[in-house]
This record gives sequence, C-alpha cells and structure tokens, in this order.
Amino acid sequence: MKVTVLGCGTSSGVPMLGCDCAVCRSPDPRNRRLRCSILVQARGQTILFDTGPDLREQMLRADVRRIDAIVYTHAHADHVHGIDDVRAFNNVQEMVIPAWAEARVFAKIRERFDYAFHDERHATGFWRPALAANTFSGDFRIGEVVLRPFRQRHGRGESWGFRIGDFAYSTDTDGLDEAAFAALSGVRVWIVDALREAPHPSHAHLAMTRTWIERVRPDRAFLTHMNHEVDYARWAAMLPDGVLPAHDGLVLELPEP
Ligand SMILES: [Zn+2]
Ligand SMILES: [Zn+2]
Ligand SMILES: [Zn+2]
Repeated sequence: MKVTVLGCGTSSGVPMLGCDCAVCRSPDPRNRRLRCSILVQARGQTILFDTGPDLREQMLRADVRRIDAIVYTHAHADHVHGIDDVRAFNNVQEMVIPAWAEARVFAKIRERFDYAFHDERHATGFWRPALAANTFSGDFRIGEVVLRPFRQRHGRGESWGFRIGDFAYSTDTDGLDEAAFAALSGVRVWIVDALREAPHPSHAHLAMTRTWIERVRPDRAFLTHMNHEVDYARWAAMLPDGVLPAHDGLVLELPEP
C-alpha cells in the first residue's frame, strides 16, 4: 500500500494569499501546502480522499492517471470544491466515478453540486463531473480494500476518519471519542490534524494532537491541515521520534491491507 500526501495545508493553503509572514515567504518547499488530501493505492485500487480546490494541481504533481473511488471526509469547501476536475477522469476512464461518504455529507455536497451526481454522457463525453454516491454506515469495501470509518468531532459539526489496515487518516478534528480510539487501536502509521500551536474551535492544536499520539502510539505519526504559523523545520526539530509534520508529496509505503 502506498499513501501519498497530496496536500497538508489548512483551508487557505500555505502561503496564505496576501500574507508576508516568514513561513509564507519561506523558500523551504515543505512550507508550501496545498489543501488537504491523500491518495491511497492498495490492492490495485487508487482511492482519492476529498476533492479540494487544488485537485487539478495535485493530480498533475502525483501523475495520477486513474481514480477508482473517491472518499469524502466531510463537506467543507476546502475538501470538496475541486469536484469539477473529476470530469477529466470521467472522460479518460469513460465511466462514472464511485464516491463514498456518510449520508449527511453527500446531502451537503449535493446542495452545492447536484449536477455532479447525474450520469449524463454526450457523444463528445462528459460535460460535467459524474460521481456515483455510495453511502456507508459501517465498514465498507472498495475492491478488496476494507475501510473502517470513524466519527470525529469537528467544531460544531463532524468529520470522518478512516482506517485501512495499519494506516489511518484523521484530518479536520478537534475531538476523538472512545469509538474513534477503538478504531485507531494498533494503527502503525497515522496522519492526524494539527493546525497550529494555539487552541482552535474546530481543529486540534499541537498539544492536543500530541496527547492523542501518546495514546494511540503509532510507529509513525504525520501532522496535517497545518496553517501558516507552522514552520516545517522548527516543528520537525521539536517533535519526538516518530512524529513529523507531513509535507506535500510525502509518500508512505505500508504493507498491503
Ligand atoms: Zn479542512
Ligand atoms: Zn503567512
Ligand atoms: Zn473542515
């Protein structure tokens, strides 16, 4: 299984438009963060997590030629609003792309992008993105890959974390309950939200994330959804062994699930 971090930035991306801070002006490429997304390739399946506003650039950078399924963590704009670029894969693959989300997440996405859920093929191909909505209420399967979703608090709303074999992805959360920790039990590699050092109403701050990591005890943890206050080198130097900020383009190799 190969996991590629396509983006590890907060909703504004880093650099943030109009900002002249040291991180936004940093020459370190690890301080340039597209909006949050990962690609999981396992058992012949290529699974995209979220379709954020940077989707096109992310697909080009990672040279992604095919998407077998899309999984949504939640319906916030920074995780959904690149949905139109799915149309390119519809046309290359000549098919509707299966998407997976919890039912209320799809309801919110369809309020904005209902046109993306109709299979409208024309003689010249797809004019619009075409996703097939598959809802989950427990473990579900994409090909031979089993995904275990778990609920995460995200401010006044919620997002979904996912476990696949020894790997788990927990973006956009400021609260994990006992069911989430049960789903995370024994995970070896964990990508987890850590927005910044100061507390925030809908994202984990670094101290909160570190208490979670101490409880889950993965071999390796990588931080995501970081804002422009996070300097890669400074955080990398102060974090304990086995914990690092993610960076765009990071590739993790794991055993097949
Ligand atoms: Zn987000
Ligand atoms: Zn800045
Ligand atoms: Zn969010």
